[in-house]
Amino acid sequence: MTDSKIKQVVIVGGGTAGWLSAALLVKVLGKAINITLVESEQVGTIGVGEATIPPIVDFNRALGIDEKEFLSATNGTIKLGISFEDWTGIGDSYMHAFGGVGKNLAFCDFHHLWLRSRNLGNNKPFGHYSLNYRAACANKFAKLNNIQGTNLPGLVYAYHFDAGLYAKLLRRISEAQGVKRIEGFIEQVTTNDESGFVEELHLRDGQVIKGDLFIDCSGLAALLIDKTLNTGFEDWSHWLPCDRAVAVPSKSIDELRPYTRSIARSAGWQWQIPLQHRLGNGLVYSSKYLSDEEASQQLLQGLDSEALEKPRVISFKTGRRLKQWHKNVVSIGLSSGFLEPLESTSIHLIQTAVTRLIKFFPNTGIKQCEVDEFNNQSKAEYESVRDFIILHYKINKRSDTKFWRDCQRMDIPTSLAAKISLFKQSGKVFSNYNELFTDIAWQQVMLGQGLIPDDYHPMADTLTVEQISDLMTSLDTLIERTVESVPTHQQFLGDTDSN
Ligand SMILES: Cc1cc2nc3c(=O)[nH]c(=O)nc-3n(C[C@H](O)[C@H](O)[C@H](O)COP(=O)(O)OP(=O)(O)OC[C@H]3O[C@@H](n4cnc5c(N)ncnc54)[C@H](O)[C@@H]3O)c2cc1C
Repeated sequence: MTDSKIKQVVIVGGGTAGWLSAALLVKVLGKAINITLVESEQVGTIGVGEATIPPIVDFNRALGIDEKEFLSATNGTIKLGISFEDWTGIGDSYMHAFGGVGKNLAFCDFHHLWLRSRNLGNNKPFGHYSLNYRAACANKFAKLNNIQGTNLPGLVYAYHFDAGLYAKLLRRISEAQGVKRIEGFIEQVTTNDESGFVEELHLRDGQVIKGDLFIDCSGLAALLIDKTLNTGFEDWSHWLPCDRAVAVPSKSIDELRPYTRSIARSAGWQWQIPLQHRLGNGLVYSSKYLSDEEASQQLLQGLDSEALEKPRVISFKTGRRLKQWHKNVVSIGLSSGFLEPLESTSIHLIQTAVTRLIKFFPNTGIKQCEVDEFNNQSKAEYESVRDFIILHYKINKRSDTKFWRDCQRMDIPTSLAAKISLFKQSGKVFSNYNELFTDIAWQQVMLGQGLIPDDYHPMADTLTVEQISDLMTSLDTLIERTVESVPTHQQFLGDTDSN
């Protein structure tokens, strides 16, 4: 590799990772670099990945995507959170809702006040004070920045969408701005004898593609980062027990819910994602406890509507590529690691990876110090998301199957053990600097799964019993009135269609 300018960027793969990377790179750096994307229709894409988290709203906006067009082009719907059902016992549920819960005092988060009110006899769950949760339960949605007349946040949302249609939309946008797409199967990859840098892709039809920087978006195949450069993998399957998913679409149901459902099953959990034209369903499970046939049966039996296709099994390994950037290859998407879909984080990790790549984009040559810092940041991000996902398994309250009992007993990362212990003993929880999941997200899952702290912040005791009671009542009323004033999710999407 010389220290000349990085001009030719080659993206390998045209799934969500490939086309999201192409779309942002061409938008920001299109005048400085040439971008080629190679994909193979014969290989296809993974075909799942339909639930997201709120930063996608700003990401789409940054790409210049109009929200109405987006929802209509992808059969998209609104997501206000994830309903976790049967994780603490059959019939129980809670929601990890986006946005705030209640009203924080300076220096004292609302959940401390809720804990005190609970001790005083308030039997309303923590989530009852979340606008997102209450709107989700009522199948309501409107774009609302604030609760009227207050400075409390309004509805915070993300999307569900058809991943194939989203990739098509991103492809249209990228090609219009100059990304060159090549259809073909990559049969061989050659590297430089001295530097080990990737030099050429050889396609089955004889085409040869050269590049200065390669972005590996080849999915679980990890063609460049693993098969060519043998960059190691850190296996997290001892902490994240599921290694398979079986997926199937089914017919739409009457109520268009503005949230994802995650229902605990005997050896994993089932997702239900409402799109405008169908439901996306899947069962994520551990092959150690459940065979593929049993998983398919369990999924089909647990559907709310008629299956539209045969169930499809997908195998995966949870963990992370040891170096997400190695030599002149940056891996983005499933090639860079996978944390299982429980909190819908993979597409977000694609967005942050391509954003990070742009920030670190090499001008002349590739400098190891830039690569190292990129890798440090990616590692910290993956580890914090990993801990949040393990939390759900570790503190489950199911004792009816060996899978769930084993999850309760498993060892966990020390970083997570410290967080759980701090919360249990003191009610305090702090997300790390730059961590994706906020304190409120941690509070919702911990309290939702019945991890009730032994103590709370002393400021909660500075309010009188009447003040605590009045606060809870006024928040309840405010949220109820706000939800009443908001149209249904279906009406919102209908308005979107007709405009
Ligand atoms: C069961 C499951 C559920 C998920 N649910 C969610 C979710 O709800 N939310 C979320 O954010 N994420 C989810 N994900 C993750 C999400 O699906 C992926 O992060 C996302 O789709 C990106 O995939 P990708 O582009 O990396 O890979 P793919 O979609 O697999 O794309 C790989 C690309 O590489 C190309 N390719 C591969 N080999 C070759 C070759 N030899 N020659 C040429 N081209 C080649 C393919 O043609 C394809 O275009 C889920 C993942 C799984 C497994």
